[in-house]
Amino acid sequence: PAAQPDVTLNLHDLSFTYPGQPLPVLHDVTLTIAAGEHIALLGRTGCGKSTLLQLLTRAWNANSGEIQLNGQPLNAYDEATLRAMTAVVSQRVHIFSNTLRENLRLAAPQASDEILKNVLQQVGLDKLLENEGLNAWLGEGGRQLSGGEQRRLGIARALLHQAPLLLLDEPTEGLDAETEQQILALLRQHCRGKTLILVTHRLYGLEHFDRICVMDGGQIVEQGHHAVL
Ligand code: ATP
Ligand code: MG
Repeated sequence: PAAQPDVTLNLHDLSFTYPGQPLPVLHDVTLTIAAGEHIALLGRTGCGKSTLLQLLTRAWNANSGEIQLNGQPLNAYDEATLRAMTAVVSQRVHIFSNTLRENLRLAAPQASDEILKNVLQQVGLDKLLENEGLNAWLGEGGRQLSGGEQRRLGIARALLHQAPLLLLDEPTEGLDAETEQQILALLRQHCRGKTLILVTHRLYGLEHFDRICVMDGGQIVEQGHHAVL
């Protein structure tokens, strides 16, 4: 694989209002994230966590303020470069009506079956291989995945992507506590040296993150290590 650049992020005074909505969802969010830093973005439902991640993937543009990636404005990157640098697991993982193989290869078109099977095992989805292996049909007309299975498939894609920046929106939501801890440990190991932002509702289990940023009402209201929050 090609050498991967470290990723730093600078969010400066970001404000954002959804089109047609009366009130802003993000207010003056300023955050500097160092290369290889692991950040947990914590906060109640509706506080703006997913919106902030969506600004980082350019799904939306901030109304004011700026995002810089490695010192360059996010808007200066072409789409292909940005996609190659960023692995995203959104809050609702999209499963395509296709084989398990193709659902995974989306993230890594060149990955061998062996690599795909290995990553399924890592995220605890190897039972999906039981009958038809990687040819199992998912989505419409095929196997319907549970919410937790969908999320783990999203994590499998993110692991396959090999990007230096990972943006994960509640990837362990709905998993039991033990599976959640296994997945967090797996992510920690995979993301060593990579920049990670993980959105979550729960402070529990975040001791290994470098920093926890607490959001409320569209702002970052507190940040620090697990031990001090
Ligand atoms: P959760 O923990 O429930 O996922 P969140 O912190 O991710 O919440 P966001 O999804 O960022 O919250 O939403 C922040 C606010 O923006 C909410 O009030 C939500 O209703 C609103 N919102 C989200 N998406 C849109 C949209 N596409 N159009 C208008 N308003 C939206
Ligand atoms: Mg959300």
